[in-house]
Amino acid sequence: SSAITKSTKIVLNLESLGSLPADEAGPLARYASTIQAQRHDYNGKVLSIRTEDLKSLAIIYDMSPDELTTRLIEWGVLSPGADGSIYADED
Ligand code: C2E
Ligand code: C2E
Repeated sequence: SSAITKSTKIVLNLESLGSLPADEAGPLARYASTIQAQRHDYNGKVLSIRTEDLKSLAIIYDMSPDELTTRLIEWGVLSPGADGSIYADED
């Protein structure tokens, strides 16, 4: 079964995202920028996205949602929460 459920809170750390190499993180960075533009929300250090968006991103990256989640944690864009949900790293 997947670790990604409807109640999973996906909060991207935009500062970490901005410091990643573009060849790997480019599609995610463009996706996040598009959401910021649609919301007119440019000032945050973090960006909450829809669970559905993680599924779309997994298709873009040709991974399962769980594999992509693991990759995002490796990149420092997501941090695993104590209760199994996912939070941005505040540090
Ligand atoms: P929309 O999907 O028609 O949503 C219209 C408005 O409903 C949003 O305006 C927002 O105020 C509210 N809304 C919808 N879903 C949620 C939610 O899960 N949480 C909260 N807090 N509010 C919600 P907003 O933010 O100005 O976004 C405008 C449009 O930009 C949205 O129209 C949607 O088409 C797109 N968008 C914004 N954020 C996302 C996102 O994270 N993922 C995707 N796929 N599209 C997004
Ligand atoms: P979700 O769809 O997985 O969205 C997770 C979080 O992404 C939302 O948490 C919100 O912080 C952000 N988000 C998603 N879409 C938008 C958007 O269009 N605009 C903005 N400004 N932020 C967005 P939140 O608000 O606590 O909502 C939790 C869950 O409640 C959402 O999970 C969704 O399942 C549901 N929800 C909230 N508002 C709406 C809505 O207007 N329409 C629908 N269909 N579901 C909503």
